[in-house]
Amino acid sequence: MPTKTKKNHTEQEKVEKYLDYILTIVKRRNPHEKEFLQAVKMFLHSLTSVFIKNPKYMEHNILERMVEPERVITFQVPWVDDHGKMQVNRGYRVQFNSAIGPYKGGLRFHPSVSTSIVKFLGFEQIFKNSLTGQPIGGGKGGADFNPKGKSNNEIMRFCQSFMTELAKYIGPDIDIPAGDIGVGKRELGYLFGQYKRISGQYHAGVLTGKGLSYGGSLGRTEATGYGTIYFVDEMLKDADLSLEDSTVVVSGSGNVSIYAMEKAISLGANVVACSDSDGYIYDENGINVETVKKVKEQNSDRIHAYLKEHQDAKYFSDCSGIWSIPCDVALPCATQNEIDRVEANQLLVNGVKAVAEGANMPCTSEAIRVFQTHDILFAPAKAVNAGGVAASALEMAQNSSRISWSFEEVDTMLQEIMKNIYTNCVQAAENYNHSGNLVIGADIAGFTKVADTMIEHGA
Ligand code: NDP
Repeated sequence: MPTKTKKNHTEQEKVEKYLDYILTIVKRRNPHEKEFLQAVKMFLHSLTSVFIKNPKYMEHNILERMVEPERVITFQVPWVDDHGKMQVNRGYRVQFNSAIGPYKGGLRFHPSVSTSIVKFLGFEQIFKNSLTGQPIGGGKGGADFNPKGKSNNEIMRFCQSFMTELAKYIGPDIDIPAGDIGVGKRELGYLFGQYKRISGQYHAGVLTGKGLSYGGSLGRTEATGYGTIYFVDEMLKDADLSLEDSTVVVSGSGNVSIYAMEKAISLGANVVACSDSDGYIYDENGINVETVKKVKEQNSDRIHAYLKEHQDAKYFSDCSGIWSIPCDVALPCATQNEIDRVEANQLLVNGVKAVAEGANMPCTSEAIRVFQTHDILFAPAKAVNAGGVAASALEMAQNSSRISWSFEEVDTMLQEIMKNIYTNCVQAAENYNHSGNLVIGADIAGFTKVADTMIEHGA
């Protein structure tokens, strides 16, 4: 064996051992945090070549610091329901990494929210925010509160109680939450109102995704879904494919799904299915997004209500069945771990050409392996759905300078940001001999900026 190759092998073994050691620490410290361990494991898997080429990261113990949140806050959220009964939920804010800017990341209200979920989301957020090219660190939060079936007043009282505690830890230059699953315009309005009352100051920049009348940005509502499609468009073009006339399946029917469908349709795609956590609809004539908006955004109804206006469409009561529909492009835009090996194989057999993660970690590592080993184009969440937080940072910029940009201005910046993210992921993958692997490209491009900054800041 030539000496150089032997040396490379030794270096590789050393790095792999080190990455295994990091994973062991994370497992020991967080033994029951399934989703967080999953996210860290998948991320470490991408870093071998970057650590071989840059021993400084190991010398500075960057990873040991990166996998440990700077701060984890949990708190009691007491609130009174409409029957006068006291209810208690648990609130969370994980301030994961502030190397390149103040903590930034959404709030999720869903019964499944736990330390593990919030930490996985916060960890991913560090690298996603880094990829946007904007000066924002990573954080995430939420509560195990189920907004479904609650009255408007109950939602308001919950949000007020949640913010009463959260307000101690956030601020326009400290930590700037936004929405996520279960937290939209209405909840952000109540949260902002309470923050204003408690702080006695009008800090427009303390939350993003706000209503337009009090500091919100045009284009923010659409940004994650539109950004997803801008990224997919770049990826398909690079492979001589196009969204035009392609068949697209999108899971979920919330904020990300609705605007991903809207933009895909505007580029000529035929979107045939979407879902909610109860089931999915299939409309071979093409999903009518205005009806989905009416059902979900205006009436907070279940997705099967779509059939009232489109009798030709079909409803199936198992949301995971959506991946059995043949499509060219699959966009999981609902929640984590929606696509495992079985669903991935189903998509593969049905001829899928590209899969892009609109939601956070919707594909398991086994599913990603299926796509990658069969040369299906695959785009990871931290790059694909970064448009949401990118537009949030644009909202912060407008709040600081007390101006408002037009929808077109924000949308043009968003397109530019998504193009840059795509190019940076492709280039990072190429630079480290993983051409075409956008998972590794996104992880490396996101990681190096944060890691280099941490070294500059010292221990
Ligand atoms: P919403 O609450 O607006 O919508 C979520 C959608 O997913 C709903 O249709 C919901 O159905 C469905 N859903 C939730 N859980 C499941 C499940 N277990 N199986 C099937 N469907 C399910 O959330 P968003 O659209 O904002 O977020 C979706 C994903 O995108 C999340 O992973 C989020 O972290 C990620 N994301 C969101 C960003 C944003 O700007 N909003 C930014 C970046 C990432 P139901 O109504 O039945 O609950």
